[in-house]
Amino acid sequence: MCFRLPYLNELMQRLTERNRGETEFHQAVREVLESIEPVLEKHPEYIEKGVVERMVEPERIIKFRVPWVDDAGFVRVNRGFRVQFSSAIGPYKGGLRFHPSVYEGIVKFLGFEQIFKNSLTGLPIGGAKGGSDFDPKGKSDGEVMRFCQSFMTELSKHIGSNTDIPAGDIGVGAREIGFMFGQYKRIRNGFTGVLTGKGLNYGGSLVRTEATGYGLCYFTEEMLKEKGTDFNGKTVVISGSGNVAIYAAEKASQLGATVVAMSDSDGYIYHKSGIDLELIKKIKEQRRGRIYEYRDIHPEAEYVADCSRIWEIRCDIALPCATQNELDKKSAELLIKNGCIAVAEGANMPSTPEAVECFLSNGILFGPAKAANAGGVATSALEMTQNSMRYSWDFDKVDAMLKDIMVNIYRSSSEAAEEYGMKGNLVAGANIAGFIKVADTMLSHGVV
Ligand code: GLU
Repeated sequence: MCFRLPYLNELMQRLTERNRGETEFHQAVREVLESIEPVLEKHPEYIEKGVVERMVEPERIIKFRVPWVDDAGFVRVNRGFRVQFSSAIGPYKGGLRFHPSVYEGIVKFLGFEQIFKNSLTGLPIGGAKGGSDFDPKGKSDGEVMRFCQSFMTELSKHIGSNTDIPAGDIGVGAREIGFMFGQYKRIRNGFTGVLTGKGLNYGGSLVRTEATGYGLCYFTEEMLKEKGTDFNGKTVVISGSGNVAIYAAEKASQLGATVVAMSDSDGYIYHKSGIDLELIKKIKEQRRGRIYEYRDIHPEAEYVADCSRIWEIRCDIALPCATQNELDKKSAELLIKNGCIAVAEGANMPSTPEAVECFLSNGILFGPAKAANAGGVATSALEMTQNSMRYSWDFDKVDAMLKDIMVNIYRSSSEAAEEYGMKGNLVAGANIAGFIKVADTMLSHGVV
């Protein structure tokens, strides 16, 4: 173990033993503990009052069977999860992920990160995450609906608009949210804002679809300002082609950049003159297709059937928007060698710890996920506000609020980093700023 404080070494060891095999969760906790060590040294009251021990233990974990019937009439069984991690500063809030890789360790890592991310938004939302090992890929709409209904039949017992408000994440978009909302409303006989990312006809917020990607670019703009530059004329590589990647590409292009590559789990497309985003939207949002179909229309683009190699492409700005640990040390070194000046994380924990270390030690502008991708959940909180008011704001108003929030997240992260002697280290700054608000609230609430 490598902490200065023996207290943290013991805590990390206990956590690893008590959450055996949950490597992503260990990784997420270790990063936060490393960042907050100087805070704990300065404020021993956080240690005396067991704030950190409590923070790394979810308030509640719900794990359930999700049986459903496929189109051929066979019964299928998946696992459902909801980890209600922290309700210190507001009701539990965080997305649901439907992907075959989902197990308790993934949901815990995501839920843990969500505590700090949500705190950074400045809005009153606690941290949670959920999901299932169900794979929507290749399933019919009917199968997805029956799965979502079964999932919500159980989940509905544990959530509510003042208790826990789930949303989307990988594999959960407008279609899945719609099916789950319909089932919740039917079971509870109540029309409430229990989910965010809803359709505009039934309580959704404008800008929510675009929010994570747009927010990521607003955050990146703030980082670039530090180096006296901006998106204009820059070459951008974006991994992924889901909701986050698509709207990051849209905003980066609006700000004058050229996005030259995007990917899915099969491979990546490199289009030197700039990706045709309308076509990506058609393939991914309308047809739920694969990215190699891009070449049917643009045979001049290159397709490489290995998504991890996307970081070999020369770029000024890299936006990893696919999934956790998709960008390793070797990729980080390649990006730096090729002249990349900024990396901002649209996905949750896409860079390995070694990659992050590499960016920081080489003076690359680095926007960690908790800060850089917080625009999605922040706009979810704005959706909750509008639902409480039974009102909806126009696009420009929500977009302006999102931008303000991202600028504030940048400022509070960079100020916290500076205060603790780590100027420019937004990883430490975001963790510290997110932590202090939750920790102080926990001190006010007593031992709960
Ligand atoms: N899944 C998103 C995230 O990682 C959004 C969560 C939400 O809107 O509640 O922050």
